[in-house]
Amino acid sequence: MLEQLVAHESPSGDRELLERCAGHLERLFAPLGSVRDLDGDGAREPHLLVEVAPEVATADAAQAAAGSPLILCHYDTVWPRGTTRGRPFLVDRDGIAHGPGVLDMKAGIVAVWLALRGLRELGIPLPRGARVSLTPDEEIGNPGTRSRVQELAAEAAVVLVVEPPLPGGRIKTARGGHATVRIDVRGRAAHSGVDPAAGISAAVEAATLTLRAQELADPVTGTTVSVGRLSAGHAVNVIPAEGRLEIDVRAREPLELQRVLTALHALTPTHPDAGIEVTVVSRRPPMGRGPGVDRLIARLHEHFASIGLELQEGFTGGVSEGNLAAAAGATVIDGLGPMGGGAHQLDEHVDVTSLLDRAAILGGLLADPAGF
Ligand SMILES: [Zn+2]
Repeated sequence: MLEQLVAHESPSGDRELLERCAGHLERLFAPLGSVRDLDGDGAREPHLLVEVAPEVATADAAQAAAGSPLILCHYDTVWPRGTTRGRPFLVDRDGIAHGPGVLDMKAGIVAVWLALRGLRELGIPLPRGARVSLTPDEEIGNPGTRSRVQELAAEAAVVLVVEPPLPGGRIKTARGGHATVRIDVRGRAAHSGVDPAAGISAAVEAATLTLRAQELADPVTGTTVSVGRLSAGHAVNVIPAEGRLEIDVRAREPLELQRVLTALHALTPTHPDAGIEVTVVSRRPPMGRGPGVDRLIARLHEHFASIGLELQEGFTGGVSEGNLAAAAGATVIDGLGPMGGGAHQLDEHVDVTSLLDRAAILGGLLADPAGF
């Protein structure tokens, strides 16, 4: 199943391939629950929602679904069309599966499918039912599905994200926040040989702003500020009139993220006649360890222990749909997907044994009447 899913390439933004992959997912999940495309008008790539009804029938179906745990998956990958030709799916002699998107997060989707299928085959009921969201655009920041993911999360009893875990299999109970900020710099053009004094160099301003922006980082709190792209000017003999910085900001606490954004907005140019404009291009707030998480962790400990594993948790600076769900007020546990390594890298791989372990843990949790 993992091989088939990897073979259905699904690069973010490639509508044709995403629709084909979604069709495949729809066929896989249809025997396990009702599947619908939340983007009903077909204006974008499919955002699939699988709904498994709770054991106890309720007159109000929407109310029943609202109390269900929500499992967040994305089926897009960072790998462009044709990647599987050069790097096809394979399982090596150590039981490690390789291939584009195999870890992030096609193995996670397979684990969810196995959990639901296993429960059904064993006749084990799901006391609260389950909802599975499969988005086509997570790797590019959920431009088309952000608000729907947040609505689903706000209705959910708990939110489980099957992204890969931290090294050693640690689940993610807190995630850093992330913002992308652009600063446009306006100077004044002048010939650098004929009349340099008439010019205001946007390059000098941009370089100065770069140094000042990076000073906002704080290693003690883990806040990072990195100018990842910097540009100014178009000709070597012209004092540049325009420049631009693009800044990546990551912080563990909401207040820290806010501190950096406020400070970036307060930056001023060094030349009195230069101008700058600060734009927050995207923003995902940190996912803190909420109060509901403790209770859920206690149950998860038992489900890990039931198959001889020890649950460990940790913090990650990366962002996922878990951040969106946490911002909507949900209790979120992330990193519940199978173990592996090399996400977004050429040696992306996943441990097939771990895939089965995670399916068992997910199944145990979904069937646990005291789970949430
Ligand atoms: Zn992912």
